[in-house]
Amino acid sequence: MMKINNLPPVFTAALPVLIKLEAAGYEAYFVGGSVRDLLLNRHIHDIDIATSAYPEEVKELFTRSIDTGIKHGTVTVLYENESYEITTFRTESGYQDYRRPDHVTFVQNLSEDLKRRDFTINALAMNTQGEIIDLFDGLADLKKHVIKAVGDPEKRFNEDALRMMRAVRFMSQLQFKLETQTEQAVKAHHELLQKISVERIRDEFVKMGIGPHSRQAFQVFLDTQLSEDVPDFAGKSDLLAIYPSLKFNPNMETSLWAIIIILLKIQDSQITKFMRDWKNSNAMTAEVERVVALFDLISERTPTDFELFEAGKETLLNTIDVAHILGQPINSEALVDRYVALPIKSSSELVIDGRFLINAGVVPGPRLGKLLTDIKKKVITGELANTKDAVTAYLNEK
Ligand code: ATP
Ligand code: MG
Repeated sequence: MMKINNLPPVFTAALPVLIKLEAAGYEAYFVGGSVRDLLLNRHIHDIDIATSAYPEEVKELFTRSIDTGIKHGTVTVLYENESYEITTFRTESGYQDYRRPDHVTFVQNLSEDLKRRDFTINALAMNTQGEIIDLFDGLADLKKHVIKAVGDPEKRFNEDALRMMRAVRFMSQLQFKLETQTEQAVKAHHELLQKISVERIRDEFVKMGIGPHSRQAFQVFLDTQLSEDVPDFAGKSDLLAIYPSLKFNPNMETSLWAIIIILLKIQDSQITKFMRDWKNSNAMTAEVERVVALFDLISERTPTDFELFEAGKETLLNTIDVAHILGQPINSEALVDRYVALPIKSSSELVIDGRFLINAGVVPGPRLGKLLTDIKKKVITGELANTKDAVTAYLNEK
């Protein structure tokens, strides 16, 4: 049995939680992503614990806990300023709708619990001694860099079709291959993905898209035809086929969406609909629209100082990132230099305002608004200094 001797601090901090459960007569193990990431030497972001104790029993042992998903057996325990998801050993049965288990059944042993997990590399457990419990050859698959379903892949994808998206997501995050039979099963059942909520598909799609090996994973996403069963991608595989040959992998969500929209040649007026179809937030939609618009502009000509001002720093940097990934030749340094040199970066930096103009004798009304915009433009382009004296002199001239 493989044994980890020097557990990293994130695990030693969590160890007392397992020991407390064991001392009360229950079994408890580290499971899932954290064990996988420990063995891959990857950053560990959250620690999941599986136990034979029922949720109510877990809650009795710890002073601070949250009922995260008590129906599914999950309690979040707060311990020494960290939080841990503790889930009772369970199996899932039913899956009548290919989405969520009909009901969970608590079980008394770890092996039943590990059997329900999606991939062999995610079905590893570790006990308090640092010993790895590996019932499905997950360690060998970790070595081989393979994503392989636990058990019969066709059955597993019929139970929960999201697992097919998780497969390509893990390929991208870990730079792993898809095991042959697992890939065949995705090819055979890709259309089951239509049963899954867009939000859950989107979360996995984004993780795939911004993972370090998204171009390779995206190729499999296309090859298996998973791409036919997500919003607005059906029949577009010829356009999406450019993605795997991009210059770089996107590593920001904004860039990912902008690139997809550009590859799909989505009209400006259809971007909102596209982003909504994918259930993206209004904030994400707005920023992606700004980035695509600026990308179109800088692909055609050099933006004016006012256009750079209007775009703002974040949109400019995001757009440069998109151009870089798409291999669009633009002079990004010059654009950034020009942005940095802008006399003001936002309207609030303008020393004068409407009240200043009124005090200077301008009559309130539409003309005042126009004059304010005119002054702002002149300040941005450097024609006018951003000082009250300069503006007063300018008003006197007019
Ligand atoms: P991440 O690094 O993204 O958190 P993870 O492997 O921890 O990766 P989670 O979604 O946090 O993924 O799930 C935790 C564990 O629960 C997985 O490692 C896996 O064992 C199990 N799991 C999650 N989703 C499913 C699913 N759809 N089907 C079966 N098992 C699943
Ligand atoms: Mg996790």
